[in-house]
Amino acid sequence: MKAIIVGGGIGGLTTALMLRARGLDCELYEQSDTIRELGVGINTLPHAIRELAGLGLLDRLDAVAIRTDELYYLNRHGQQVWREPRGLGAGHDVPQFSIHRGRLQGVIHAVVEERLGKDAIHTGCRLGAFTQDEGGVSAHFFDRTGAHIHTTRGDILIGADGIHSRVRETLFPDEGPPCWNGLMLWRGARDWPAFLTGRSMIVAGGLHAKVVVYPIAEGSSPASRLTNWAVLVKIGDGASPPPRREDWSRPGKRDELMPHVERFSVPYVDVRSLISATPEFYEYPCCDRDPLPYWSSGRVTLLGDAAHPMYPVGSNGASQAILDARALADALVRSEHPRQALVAYEQKRLPMTAEIVRSNRRGGPEGVIDAVEQLAPDGFTDIDKVLSHAQREAIVRGYATKAGFAAPPPGLTAVRA
Ligand SMILES: Cc1cc2nc3c(=O)[nH]c(=O)nc-3n(C[C@H](O)[C@H](O)[C@H](O)COP(=O)(O)OP(=O)(O)OC[C@H]3O[C@@H](n4cnc5c(N)ncnc54)[C@H](O)[C@@H]3O)c2cc1C
Repeated sequence: MKAIIVGGGIGGLTTALMLRARGLDCELYEQSDTIRELGVGINTLPHAIRELAGLGLLDRLDAVAIRTDELYYLNRHGQQVWREPRGLGAGHDVPQFSIHRGRLQGVIHAVVEERLGKDAIHTGCRLGAFTQDEGGVSAHFFDRTGAHIHTTRGDILIGADGIHSRVRETLFPDEGPPCWNGLMLWRGARDWPAFLTGRSMIVAGGLHAKVVVYPIAEGSSPASRLTNWAVLVKIGDGASPPPRREDWSRPGKRDELMPHVERFSVPYVDVRSLISATPEFYEYPCCDRDPLPYWSSGRVTLLGDAAHPMYPVGSNGASQAILDARALADALVRSEHPRQALVAYEQKRLPMTAEIVRSNRRGGPEGVIDAVEQLAPDGFTDIDKVLSHAQREAIVRGYATKAGFAAPPPGLTAVRA
């Protein structure tokens, strides 16, 4: 049994480790010339960290990440709408990590090389086409110039090739480009004085604009942290395409961003100065795709953003890709035929991730500040008179349950890492 994995992001690399852990063979193909540590901060939720811990990665992640211990939801005036413990503090048996996306990818990549050997990863290989027959799948790879450089054969092909997936496009040729909801996301990170517990995450704002700030690594001194920020603003009506094509590595323009930053007043951390002091940052129009009717066609399937690209709210993109990897590897060892395995994997993961895609369109857990802004745009004197605790809890906890990371009920707390 040999799997061809297309894409060396967090989804593809984790899949390689999951397959290896079950004695299954694979080769991974990545279009970039090297696996570079790109991106800025992301959050990985306890249910995904549990999977990475199961692969033996916890200590390595701890060395480069921050164990997030609390989350604040504030309105744009800085008033507290909701606050909750996260990770171990919320009763999970493993932490929630805030981490630089590139470092997370780098940790998993290093372990793939150690366990599978450097030869298992083929960089500079862009999947162009694949065919399948009764006995297997053939995949054809091309270089940057479009020249054919390699063809390989395997029992299955896993498209972990991101939001612009070639595998998905081949399975669904009429789908078209991703959908843009009119929200632009600017993101950056900078060494900055630690705030609150030094492990706190803040999401402030409402429907039209939000600012998110959290540390993702230790800083240059014990009193500082590499601090990630993101500003999310509605700049379009969602009916027209984004001003520039979605590309995670596209630099942002300061004159387009700064006017939006003025609307926030966040206590605990001077967000305006943090953003102004960040020399380089990125823009990304918030795009997703409609959930698909199926992911698996014969011996070919989709995983991670290729299967279910979602708006980056609720900290779920990387986490759900990691959960996909686990489910797919389990299905492959449990099923008699690879085709059955791919269907079993899809049945387990597609409905749940489709629900998260839809929920993120409604604002995800951050819907709690959207609702408060709608009811009290100029602020409040008593949050309970705007939305009761039970109503706020229903929004935040409802999302956690859907996404599979609700904290265990008191009394069921597992052994802590
Ligand atoms: C450069 C980059 C920066 C990012 N930065 C952030 C961030 O700051 N914050 C955030 O929340 N999310 C970010 N993301 C998205 C986030 O990493 C994903 O949502 C999540 O981790 C799921 O990952 P994935 O492996 O499914 O997809 P991706 O992370 O998109 O990985 C897909 C991989 O497939 C490769 N690929 C694509 N097409 C082909 C092809 N035809 N042949 C071979 N290889 C191919 C791509 O080069 C890429 O390495 C970023 C993604 C990328 C690619």
